[in-house]
Amino acid sequence: MARHQKFSWTAVASPAQHIAVKNGVGAAERLEVDSVLAKELGENGFRSTRRTKIICTIGPTSCSEEMLETLAVNGMNLARLNMCHGTREWHHEIISRIRRLNQDKGFSVAIMLDTEGSEVHTSALDQPIKAEVGEEYVLTIRDPSSVGAMAIGVSYDAFVDDVEVGDSVVVDGGMVSLEVESKMGPDVHCRVVDPGIILSRANLTFRRDGAVIRARNSMLPVLSSKDWLDIDFAIRERVDFIAVSFVKSADVIKNLKSYLNSRADKVIEVIAKVESHDSVPNIAEIVEASDAVMVARGDLGAQIPLEDVPSVQKEVVVRCRQLGRPVIVASHLLQSMIEYPTPTRAEVADISDVVRQRADALMLSGESAVGAYPDKAVNVLRAVATRIEEWVRQEKHGQIVLPQLANVPDGRVSEELCASASTMANNLGARAIFVYTRRGYMANFLSRCRPDCPVFAFTDQQDVRQRLNLRWGVMPFRLDFAPDPEENVDRTFRLLKRRDLVQPGDLVVVVSDIRPDSSDASVVRSVQIRRVPA
Ligand code: PGA
Ligand code: MN
Repeated sequence: MARHQKFSWTAVASPAQHIAVKNGVGAAERLEVDSVLAKELGENGFRSTRRTKIICTIGPTSCSEEMLETLAVNGMNLARLNMCHGTREWHHEIISRIRRLNQDKGFSVAIMLDTEGSEVHTSALDQPIKAEVGEEYVLTIRDPSSVGAMAIGVSYDAFVDDVEVGDSVVVDGGMVSLEVESKMGPDVHCRVVDPGIILSRANLTFRRDGAVIRARNSMLPVLSSKDWLDIDFAIRERVDFIAVSFVKSADVIKNLKSYLNSRADKVIEVIAKVESHDSVPNIAEIVEASDAVMVARGDLGAQIPLEDVPSVQKEVVVRCRQLGRPVIVASHLLQSMIEYPTPTRAEVADISDVVRQRADALMLSGESAVGAYPDKAVNVLRAVATRIEEWVRQEKHGQIVLPQLANVPDGRVSEELCASASTMANNLGARAIFVYTRRGYMANFLSRCRPDCPVFAFTDQQDVRQRLNLRWGVMPFRLDFAPDPEENVDRTFRLLKRRDLVQPGDLVVVVSDIRPDSSDASVVRSVQIRRVPA
C-alpha cells in the first residue's frame, strides 16, 4: 500500500517551491540544487529518487510557461527543441521561458537543440490530414497550393526521379502508407493503402519490394545548410546539447565537434541520433566520436525492419555504457498518450525494458510536443522508471562487464577510483557518493558504474551542472568551491544538513580530485568513507 502511494501516477511535487539558491550564509557558501530534485530526495529518500533522466520535446501543447513549469515539476530534466518545426524566433522564445523558469523557480532544466537533418518530409500543413483507404494524393515538389486540394509538398526534389510506379511511400515510419500509381512531371500520384493521420512535416521513406530505397537520399549531406544556420543559432543561444539527425558515420560528428570547439565559448555536447540505415554498421565509431547517443526508434524503424529495432537499441545502449557515453532511448514510448490519458500496458513494459537496460534517459516526442497529456506522460515515465529501478536494484539486472576505458595512467587512476568507490558504496550500503568535479569527468565515470546509491556531483560550473542532468543517477549541485578539498566536504555536509538532505551519522563515499590551483601536478585523488558529523 505504501509503495503504491509512493509511486502513484500523480505528481510528487506540488508547484515548485523556491528551495534552491542562496541560503543566507553569504556568497562563499552557496549550494544550488534543483528545487524539484531536492523535494524528490526529501520525500522519496535517496534510494528511491529516480536515476533515469527524462527529456521532453517542446511543442504547441507544452510551450506555455504554465505547462513548462508543470513538466519541470513532474520531472523533466532536459527540454528538446526540434528544429523540424517552428521558427528560430519561436525557439528563442521557448529557450528564454525555460531559462526564466530555471532562474525564478530554482530548476536546472538543460536544453537540447535537435537539428532537422536531410530527411525527406512533407510540407508544412495547416492541419493534419486524415487519409482514408483508396484516396488519391498528389505528392509534389511544386507549391502544393498550386496543384490542388489533395496535393502535399515534398522537401526533396530528386524524389520524383527516385520513385517508380508500384513503390510504397511510408509516412512517419508507418503511420500511413501510399502506393505510387503514376508519375507526371513534378507530381507523383499515390493511393492510400494503410489509412491514418499525416502530420505537418511528416517524415517520408520510400520502399520497393519491402526494402528502403536509399539511392539518392543516401547521398544527401547529413547536415544541410539550414542545419548549419540552426547550429549557429544554438551556439548563440548557448544550449547544452546539439543532436544530429540521420548520422551515418563518425565524420559528421567529428566535424561538428571541431566547429563547436572553435566557435562556441562553452562546451556544447554533441548527441548522435542512430536512426539511419547506414548508421547501423558504424555504431561503434559513432558512439566513440560522440558525447552522447540517441536511439531514435521512429525513423530507425522506418529504415530497418521493425523487428531489428530492439536488438539495435540494445547494442547501442551496451556500447554507450562500455564507452561511458550517455544514451537516450527515444520515440513511441507512450505513443497512445498523444490521444489518451493513460498508457497501454505494452508501453509500460517497453519503458520498463529501457530502464532495465539502464539507459541514461527516456525521451518523449509527440507525447509532449503535440499530445493532449504532456504532464501525464511525464508522470508515467517518472513512476515507471522509479519503480523499475528499485526492482533492478533488488534483482541486480543489467549488470555488464565494463572494459577498461582510459589508456593513459591518469585516466586509469580516475577510472579505478570511481569503480572502487562504487563497489564500496554498494557493499557498505552508503547513502550517496559525493564527487567534486570541475568538468564532470569523474561524475561521468561514476554514473557509468551505475552504483546502487545516487551520485551527488558538486561542481562550481553552472553549465557542467546542466550537462550532468543527462547522466544516469547523477544529482548535480552547484557549489562554490573552497580552496581546500577538506573544507569542501565539510561545507557540503553543513549545507546539506541545513536542508535536511543528510542526517548526522549518514554514511557517504567521497571522491575528490579538486585542488586549489586546478593544475594537474598538485592533484591528490582520494576516496574516503565518511559519516555526516553531528
Ligand atoms: P525525430 O527523431 O523526432 O527528429 O524524427 C526521433 C526519431 O526518429 O525517433
Ligand atoms: Mn528522426
